[in-house]
Amino acid sequence: MSGVGKGIAASSIGSILKARGFTVTALKIDPYINVDAGTMNPTEHGEVFVLEDGDETDQDMGNYERFLDITLSRVNYMTTGRVYQEVIRRERNLEYKGKNVEVVPDIPFEVIRRIEIATEKANADFTIVEIGGTIGEYQNMLFLEAARMMKGKRPDDVAFAMVSYLPIPSKIGEMKTKPTQYASRTLNSAGIQTDIIIARASVPLDQKRKDKIAMFCNIRPDHVISAPDVESIYDIPINFEHDNLSTILCDVLKVDMKNRPLRFAAWNNFVKKSKSVKEEVNIAVVGKYFNSGEFLLSDVYISVLEALKYSAYKVGKKLKLHYVGSQNFEKDSKKVSELEKYDGILAPGGFGSSGVEGILKAIQYAREHQIPYFGLCYGMQLAVIEYARNVVNLKGANTAEIDPQSPYKVIDIMIDQKKLMAENKYGGTMRLGSYPARLKKNTIARNAYKTDTIIERHRHRYEVNPEYIEQIESAGLVFSGISPDGQLMEIAELPREVHPFFLGTQFHPEFLARPLNPHPLFTEFMKAAVQRNIDNK
Ligand code: GLN
Repeated sequence: MSGVGKGIAASSIGSILKARGFTVTALKIDPYINVDAGTMNPTEHGEVFVLEDGDETDQDMGNYERFLDITLSRVNYMTTGRVYQEVIRRERNLEYKGKNVEVVPDIPFEVIRRIEIATEKANADFTIVEIGGTIGEYQNMLFLEAARMMKGKRPDDVAFAMVSYLPIPSKIGEMKTKPTQYASRTLNSAGIQTDIIIARASVPLDQKRKDKIAMFCNIRPDHVISAPDVESIYDIPINFEHDNLSTILCDVLKVDMKNRPLRFAAWNNFVKKSKSVKEEVNIAVVGKYFNSGEFLLSDVYISVLEALKYSAYKVGKKLKLHYVGSQNFEKDSKKVSELEKYDGILAPGGFGSSGVEGILKAIQYAREHQIPYFGLCYGMQLAVIEYARNVVNLKGANTAEIDPQSPYKVIDIMIDQKKLMAENKYGGTMRLGSYPARLKKNTIARNAYKTDTIIERHRHRYEVNPEYIEQIESAGLVFSGISPDGQLMEIAELPREVHPFFLGTQFHPEFLARPLNPHPLFTEFMKAAVQRNIDNK
């Protein structure tokens, strides 16, 4: 079922194989019709993770990149829509040579072809393929059919792992294996026998349950891997190795494991450090996509959250994150002074008008009260708007995204985006993926990156309007990162003398933060937050 940890399980399997010295890549299959995740509402789908080549994908792709420390591309992501689109394109181009093109086998064939392309591109020893959704649902049947065919063709090259949840009903207090037994049977009815079962549960599995699952699901008891809830997701690869998962996998796939010690020291150190930090640093994320009904949706900003964590550990602190809905400040503007208690404020990316006036109030408060502020994409555009309104004195300044009639559109649509919007071409058409920027000397950005040219991932349609750059800069805001052609403002910041850290990026630095390699801007923000914490004591 969704949310049970398939993505982290897939990432963790990859990371232990990588620690054994194998080349590993990963591929995510999302069964929905959408060609990519870019057109979906964040409250519906969670974060859209942008790849280097601009593909707008699922947050699990971020987990793979972070756990495996690799860079993926669009060949590593597929959806039902993407598979059908390609089959139909090829049919129209007569590539099936007049043959009757059928759902089965032609759709599974295309799925297999894609898995093979991803494997070849990475020259991988192992390709971890995660099939989204739940066994038994209609949507992912064709992907399971592809998996079955692959196994039939190359039995020694394909292994199956099923992630299953074992509930402990509170009234009974006993862990139940029955749902797992049914899931395994349902998988059997799709022609697949799993080799390994990753048993997710709130607590570790006992031997009795391992034996029971083994008996009813036709696998060996030692192939049942216990995957209890953990304090940190980064424990999971280590836990998997306790149950010998990499050895079991190599066994199933008849891969020679000799001379392949587990090289996990750096990872272990990271996990140890993350647990040893005690003192908290309090960061408020001010945004708008937090709630779905009664539930908090922290998934929407997963990469931001992880990036903050890595930098907090790096400066020896424990991250305490506070999700602050910006609508609160719109209803009652005095509430904004509650931000005083945080060590730093971050405004993440976003779209549309809801909650924006509240975010602007928060930014103004951070600027005027010397609270470290970090704005990502929309968070940068809104910082520019706030500065234009309250410092440059351009009353009613706004982004064309919200107020096309604004007298001062300090954020405006990029020229090449205008035409796309007029034609309702929304899917995959933003300025997406990696672009370079040059950094100005003696700025926070340049000092943090320690280099003059950077490459970062983007996802936006609007930009700082060139007409206002001079006016804004002469009022004190510095555009410290600019595209090489001098056209696009990539980073805006206030000089250190004026504010301890007030910086926004047009790009999304969170997509490049890795556990063992935290992002320099996040670390700089974190240092400023820690300093505020010390100063306030
Ligand atoms: N809505 C803004 C734009 O399209 C910002 C996008 C974002 O934050 N990812 O430019």
